[in-house]
Amino acid sequence: MIHPMRPVIVAGNWKMHTTPAEAGDLARTIGARTRVDGVTRVLCPPFVCLAAVGAAVSGPEVAAPDGTGIAVGAQDVHHELAGAYTGSTSAAMLAGLATWTIVGHSERRRDDCETDEQIGRKLLAARSAGLRVILCVGEQLADRDAGRAVSVVDRQVRGCLAAADPGALGADADGPRLTIAYEPVWAIGTGRNARGADAAEMAGAIRAALASLGFANAGEDIPILYGGSVSSANIDEFMTEPSIDGALVGGASLKPDEMAGIVARAGLTAQGRAAGLASRRKRRP
Ligand code: PEP
Repeated sequence: MIHPMRPVIVAGNWKMHTTPAEAGDLARTIGARTRVDGVTRVLCPPFVCLAAVGAAVSGPEVAAPDGTGIAVGAQDVHHELAGAYTGSTSAAMLAGLATWTIVGHSERRRDDCETDEQIGRKLLAARSAGLRVILCVGEQLADRDAGRAVSVVDRQVRGCLAAADPGALGADADGPRLTIAYEPVWAIGTGRNARGADAAEMAGAIRAALASLGFANAGEDIPILYGGSVSSANIDEFMTEPSIDGALVGGASLKPDEMAGIVARAGLTAQGRAAGLASRRKRRP
């Protein structure tokens, strides 16, 4: 089922790529080439590039015809609000530089041994500063091969959201406070993407977990993205699944041609949803 209020989102995770000068140029180029109505675009550069990207996307040259601009997101946030954490960045430090943040990316789970409990604390810290959160979950290849993919992701969703108040994570007038990115670890940076049907099955499992945690509308209000080797050649596989609301894009998000193709295809889904909503409204007595 397509929820009438769920936005279509394309978020780019630039990982540890670009200097501030390169990031500003790249953001300007991507912005000018992705001016498509109905798609929420989020660029997540490295921390030190946030200001440059924010400046680059502040002008009308990157706005879609409907006036929507580009949002800037961080790739991570510390779980404490302040303290003796050398080299770390708090949510309060990000406010003003970013309006979104990723938490729980599998590269941080792997390299920094982040736990679901800690990721849940990051989510709460981010929300306390008003940041919109993209929470990443996803199974390892061994889990999928062993038939454990759904149970692993279910556990991650429950673990990360155990301390959260579902009532405080719905959308506000400007967008979703919480978005979940299903990113099977074996598909990230490998060129091997999941099938759309598998991503849709996982979206169903994630929404079932959200429902049992007390999220309104059986979790149907929360956007779910697919991530893992998304490109302009395979984005349709995911955008044709009604339960999938967009993509978290890694490698391809550094390539303007790829981002132009991905956002254009996502725009077709957004426009199709808007038309469906309009005709449903018209039919209503
Ligand atoms: C990611 O970093 O979140 C990601 C999905 O990477 P890639 O698209 O390169 O697989």
